[in-house]
Amino acid sequence: MSILVYTESEQGTFKKIALEAVSYAKGIADMMGSSVTAVSVNGGDASALAAYGADKVLEVSNDKLNNFNAAAYADVVAQAAKAEGAKVVVLTSSADSKFMAPLVAVNLEAGYVANATALPVSAAPFKVAHTVFTNKAFATSEISTDVKVVGLGKNAYGLKENSGAGAAEAFSPSLSDSDFSTEVVSVDKATDKVTIADAEIVVSAGRGLKGPENWGMVEEMADILGAATACSKPVSDMGWRPHGEHVGQTGKPVASNLYIAIGISGAIQHLAGINSSKVKVVINNDPEAPFFKAADYGIVGDAFEVVPQLNEKLKAFKAQNS
Ligand SMILES: Cc1cc2nc3c(=O)[nH]c(=O)nc-3n(C[C@H](O)[C@H](O)[C@H](O)COP(=O)(O)OP(=O)(O)OC[C@H]3O[C@@H](n4cnc5c(N)ncnc54)[C@H](O)[C@@H]3O)c2cc1C
Repeated sequence: MSILVYTESEQGTFKKIALEAVSYAKGIADMMGSSVTAVSVNGGDASALAAYGADKVLEVSNDKLNNFNAAAYADVVAQAAKAEGAKVVVLTSSADSKFMAPLVAVNLEAGYVANATALPVSAAPFKVAHTVFTNKAFATSEISTDVKVVGLGKNAYGLKENSGAGAAEAFSPSLSDSDFSTEVVSVDKATDKVTIADAEIVVSAGRGLKGPENWGMVEEMADILGAATACSKPVSDMGWRPHGEHVGQTGKPVASNLYIAIGISGAIQHLAGINSSKVKVVINNDPEAPFFKAADYGIVGDAFEVVPQLNEKLKAFKAQNS
């Protein structure tokens, strides 16, 4: 019996969420006196997962799986879980994981809890705390099925170094035509820039910037920091910025280490999308703006004065430290 963890990768490198998921699986394994088996699809070097506690890495190498396909990937994970006799399957809260987790759960006749915030409260009965209502409330749920599927919430556990054996083993699941009834034939990235979902730092701006012509200073800050750019809903509704940058309850969720909000009031629908971010910095000329209540650091000031000065300081700091 082991804890099975699905590890996402991009172009042969494991994503940070994969390493966090392995750390979390190791925590559960320690609670249950079990071991950690990772499953990797066309992924990176097994040693990267061993460093966070993977005892074994099932490596799936298959050209048909080059592009993410929920049905096929879910089948791979379910077959790996069955082969390993896994009692707990750990996924993340990425878009791909959320797409495939219910399919994995159905295949394994397992109960599924999404957005787990911490290690299980208890292993037997298996109870886990998780967020509900777009992170506005917490619940604790018990999974009573023999196999349990858990989706770890973004930034919920962090990276914990452990030493696992990381023994790599080839794994060849049998995939059927029905796994590919919907097939992704190509993926074209809209931009080469850092995507909001994967970004460690996000620089976001709102209606306070007055118009699209003023985004130069926001993009400059993002370039200096290697950050993704984002915006509030009205900004994308007005066509100032692309819809892909809209963050919030009806937009993209952000789980960055640093979220810088410029000229954004901090409406509840905006905050719903960013409350998994770790450090929030708010720049707003209204000291009563609600965003300050959710901020770790706040600058009360005119964005058109503060941001250019901040950019100069950041550039100087970077030059000194490079
Ligand atoms: C069902 C529903 C879903 C929604 N979903 C979302 C969502 O997903 N994401 C989202 O963002 N919104 C969402 N909204 C809209 C949300 O309620 C707010 O209207 C929106 O977030 C406000 O955007 P904003 O902060 O850019 O603009 P505003 O509320 O107009 O705020 C602008 C801010 O800029 C500040 N400012 C002005 N000038 C300057 C300056 N020179 N320097 C510094 N600061 C300045 C102001 O003090 C103000 O705080 C939703 C609303 C509804 C009803």
